[in-house]
Amino acid sequence: MVLAVLRLLHRIIRDKRMTTHLALTARAFGASSFFYSGDHDGGVEESINDVALEWGGVFNVEYLEKPSNFIKEWKKKGGIIIHLTMYGIELSNFIESMRNMLDKDLLVVVGGAKVPGFIYQLANYNVAIGHQPHSEIAALSVFLDNLSKGEARKKKHSDAKINIVPTERGKQAEANRK
Ligand code: SAM
Repeated sequence: MVLAVLRLLHRIIRDKRMTTHLALTARAFGASSFFYSGDHDGGVEESINDVALEWGGVFNVEYLEKPSNFIKEWKKKGGIIIHLTMYGIELSNFIESMRNMLDKDLLVVVGGAKVPGFIYQLANYNVAIGHQPHSEIAALSVFLDNLSKGEARKKKHSDAKINIVPTERGKQAEANRK
């Protein structure tokens, strides 16, 4: 099973932080791959790879020139497309059936400014995290956290260079000796 995220319509000038944070959110909440389309952005890729190197685990970042071809190919191979949009069906109606699909490859698609209509048609599920407009990062984190029932974010990576030492006050981290 693969859990991957696709971010559509990245804009190099306006979306650097947003797209980087989306990828970090994907990684922290259990996805193993992050794809993006729109403008190719080596700076975003470097930031994500740097974090993954320091904090461990396997995380792949890839630019897609033609996301529609990629989505069609994903479906053809038996994978499932879940598109997060405020226009979709509320998450609570779907979440159980989605947890039952965890043996399949899941691609979670989030948009940018204006998601083209064909994405709504290609998706197996158009899922809303409430029907108010908010953000792709909020939508992705709520979706992934629900999918794993909060378990994915607790995962520790044995190859991390540093680990947080949880503390009620202040900040503590230590070098990973494993
Ligand atoms: N009109 C958009 C929509 O369809 O949800 C809102 C645009 S928002 C700036 C960018 C992305 O955030 C959307 O493409 C969607 O992936 C995500 N998003 C925002 N609000 C959402 C919601 N309530 N439920 C699910 N996804 C949402």
